[in-house]
Amino acid sequence: MMSGLQSLRYKGIIFDMDGTLTVPLIDFEKIRIELGLSGEKDMLEEIDSWPDAKRKEAWDLIESYEKEVISSNMLQPGCRDALVRFRESGVKLGILTRNTISGVEAFVGLIGIEFDAVLTREHPHVKPSPLPVQEILGIWKLAPNDVLMVGDYIHDIESGKAAGTGTCFFHNPGAKFFGDLADFSVSSFGELEKIVRKVQH
Ligand SMILES: [Mg+2]
Repeated sequence: MMSGLQSLRYKGIIFDMDGTLTVPLIDFEKIRIELGLSGEKDMLEEIDSWPDAKRKEAWDLIESYEKEVISSNMLQPGCRDALVRFRESGVKLGILTRNTISGVEAFVGLIGIEFDAVLTREHPHVKPSPLPVQEILGIWKLAPNDVLMVGDYIHDIESGKAAGTGTCFFHNPGAKFFGDLADFSVSSFGELEKIVRKVQH
């Protein structure tokens, strides 16, 4: 039986977005480099101007990336359900990302969940600075040790630590491990929920 804030270890969770709420996504910059695109023209226009064989090769590569994303899905498995349950339990949810505000808007539209604070690349301070974390603590009026910072990169953990929050490293398959620096390390939203809800495991 899930109950309210009393049974929770944290009253707020600040999430990194890319590679934490979402699986690591297509890297268009990587595709540009791999295809040798100049970047001066629109990607599709430039590819269309190439000879047949080269054009086919380019489309095959792009499609292989698209298929990867379709089959793996954009959200981390279990992410949406976990966030819904956190909200139902009264946990505040935040996004702290180096992505753009339009990137976050697209994501929030897709996931259909309300976030209590969102700070993006447009903010004057970005991770690993503790300042954006501290700003969210101020908005929420929560003490650092009531909040957990969750992310899949060293900057996420560093910004949380410097601000005095709990920290949780999210380890994606095959990604570099920074869990030694964090209070917790998980590789799924199920594991994260157990930490937030103080379930023994
Ligand atoms: Mg990330």
